Formats: sequence, structure tokens, C-alpha cells
Amino acid sequence: MKSSLVGSKWIEIDLDAIKTNYMNIKQKLNPGVKFLGVVKADAYGHGAVEVGLLLEKIGADMLGVTTAEEGKELRLAGVSIPILVFGAFFPEDVELYFNFNLTATVACMESIQWLKQCTDRDDKSIKIHIKVETGMGRFGFWPCDVVLAAKEILKIPGLQLEGVYSHLAVAMRKNKSFSFRQFSVFQETCKSLEKAGIKGLIRHIANSSAVVDLPEMQLDMVRVGTLLYGQYPAPYMEDTLKLKDSWVFKAKIVYVRDLPRGQSVGYGRAFRTHKNISVAVLPIGVIDGFQVEPVSKPVNGWELFKNIAKLILNYFGYLRVVPFAIFKEGKGKVIGKVGMQYTMVDVSRVNNLKVGDVAQISARRTTMRLDIPKVYLENGRIVRVRVGSIVKNGIK
Ligand SMILES: *Cc1c(COP(=O)(O)O)cnc(C)c1O
Repeated sequence: MKSSLVGSKWIEIDLDAIKTNYMNIKQKLNPGVKFLGVVKADAYGHGAVEVGLLLEKIGADMLGVTTAEEGKELRLAGVSIPILVFGAFFPEDVELYFNFNLTATVACMESIQWLKQCTDRDDKSIKIHIKVETGMGRFGFWPCDVVLAAKEILKIPGLQLEGVYSHLAVAMRKNKSFSFRQFSVFQETCKSLEKAGIKGLIRHIANSSAVVDLPEMQLDMVRVGTLLYGQYPAPYMEDTLKLKDSWVFKAKIVYVRDLPRGQSVGYGRAFRTHKNISVAVLPIGVIDGFQVEPVSKPVNGWELFKNIAKLILNYFGYLRVVPFAIFKEGKGKVIGKVGMQYTMVDVSRVNNLKVGDVAQISARRTTMRLDIPKVYLENGRIVRVRVGSIVKNGIK
């Protein structure tokens, strides 16, 4: 029954894992520190609505998204806790903040004016957090302009100044010197607000890495994404916190057969068999976001060296990041180039495979197509299935 609903590939989301991660992260927080659960980018591929509702149920104080549209989706689904929109907005977005009770990030003077024009003709109010530029170089007021901005906001009756925050650029690194520099700029900015008589704001700068590694930066609230979903910002953090993986990509075998020695496999004949092997074909490919890797220019000699070393190791088959598929009876490696919609797996070491058997596939969550069906598990049972905009609840 599940299969007919979701088709040949789907993502399983373990809501209990997210719950466990939430509890374990909470243990790391100083008393009284608020928890903002980051559900931007469709909750890092988990489904913003499902994760948002869960976080509300288990006690998160706030949710964080990038756009007002994302906030609207959460409100329409019934989320009632505060939602902070991290991103910038255009004048035409202001209505959304009012209509759906979203908390706005203000990062420039113009945006205060846009909000003002809307409050002039409406008696509702909008909560605001000021964003401070401390080293991310993306958006935010320069520290020296923050007090002025805050005063400007306080002048406008329909605006409610609630918080002030900044974002860390390299908190995942072992070397924390830049993070401490950012933190001290942020602290200074908060002090200057207090000196100007603007008190009681929610101050926040900590992301996942800071929660694990920089407890002094928790202030009044932390904003956590990565950890919630069972991943560590950096491998060296793995000992400090127990997390459960909440995301699994699965697909059904569409073909399985033996190939003779010397047969080439897939586009470009990128793989040739050196002996007789068994190959399973999976209905997944780059169109699903599978094996799509974000690539950016190496920033320094060390990164360039690491990239080259990786390519060389990969070429000789020594890299462990080669994607693989796990079956009930064993494991197989992806061979050849991943196609638009098909991927081949060497299953010579897996016995008794047949068409329709399910593989669990290693994949990068944030590049996967958002409309791949999602199957939600709670207490080991399927509680919800989402296929595009179609949702089925209470499936047992
Ligand atoms: C994405 C994001 C976070 C969460 O970062 P993680 O490292 O995933 O915890 C926090 N704050 C802001 C502003 C973000 O954009």
C-alpha cells in the first residue's frame, strides 16, 4: 500500500530521531536559553511543515525560515509559535508579515520605512529583530548604525522591537578566533543598545556549531538547524553530543542482472567490468539531486590541495564517499556515471536480490528534489505520507 502511494523512490523521515536530537541539544543549553528551531529550506529537506509542527509540540520557542512565504506555509499548516524570518524582504512582502504574524529581520534603513508605510494603514503590529553585521559580510547593520536603527523602529507605533542578532561565519572550524571576534563585536553592539536605554531584547548569535563548541555564546536564544537533523557541522564534534540520523533515501530496484566481463556500464562507458558481476539498476539520478555536489572555487592553497587529493583518491577508488546502496542482505557501490534518472549499483556481493527490493542510498540531503515523496515515521510506524502537496495522515 505504501508503495503505490510513494512510487519507486522516497525519503523516510524519522520524527523520533528529531525529537531525540532536540532533547539532547536542550541538555547542552544553559538554563533559560530559548530554542529556535531552523526549518528553512524545507527543514533541510525534511519537510518544514512536519518538522515545524513537531517542534512546536515538543516545546521549541520559535522557528526560523528564510522567506516570508516559508513562514506563511507554516502558519497555514497550523503552526502558532513565533516564526522569525531571517531573510531580506521587498516592500511587497510586508503584507505577509502582518497577515501571518511573522517576525521580521530588519537589516537596512529602507526596510524600516517599508514597514512603516504598512503600519500607517493597519492597526496590527509586527515584531522585529535587528540583524547586525559582525563578519558574515552578507546583510545586517554596521554595529555603529544599530542604535540609530533601533530608535527609528521604536518611533513607529506598529513595530515592536523584540530582538537583536548576528550570524557566525566559521563557527564549525576548530580555530575559534574569528568567531570570538564576531562575538565581541556583537556584545559591544548589545551594550551600546543598553546604554541607549533599549533593554530586554532577545540577543542571539549561536548556531549548531556554537551550541556544541561555544557555550558562552548562547546568550538568550540559540538557532539550531544541522544538529536537529542528526548531523554534525564538523566531524571533530561527534563525541560531544549524541545525535540520531533523521533522513534516509530509499529506492526500489527496477532491474537486476549479471553482466559479463568487459561490459561497459552507463553513459561515457565510464565503468567497465573486470569480471562477471551482478548489477542492480535504481530509478534515481541527477534529476532527483542525487550526486549533485555544490562546487565552489578553493579559497586557499590548502583547500586546492585537498580537492586535488580527493580527486586522485576517488580516481583510484580509495575514497569512502563513493555513493553506496544498502540492501537487507548487504551493500553495493554505485558504478559508472549517474544518469539523468538511473543509477547502477554493483551488487555482486549481495545475494538473492530481485526487482522491487528496496535499497537505502547514501545521498546529500540539501540537493535532493523537494518533491520526492516523504514518509514520516513515529514510534516505528508510518504516520504521514507527503507526495508533492498531497498529504495522507494516520497511515498504519
Ligand atoms: C541556517 C541558519 C542557522 C542554523 O545554522 P546551523 O548551523 O544549521 O544550526 C542559524 N541562523 C541563521 C540566520 C541561519 O541562516
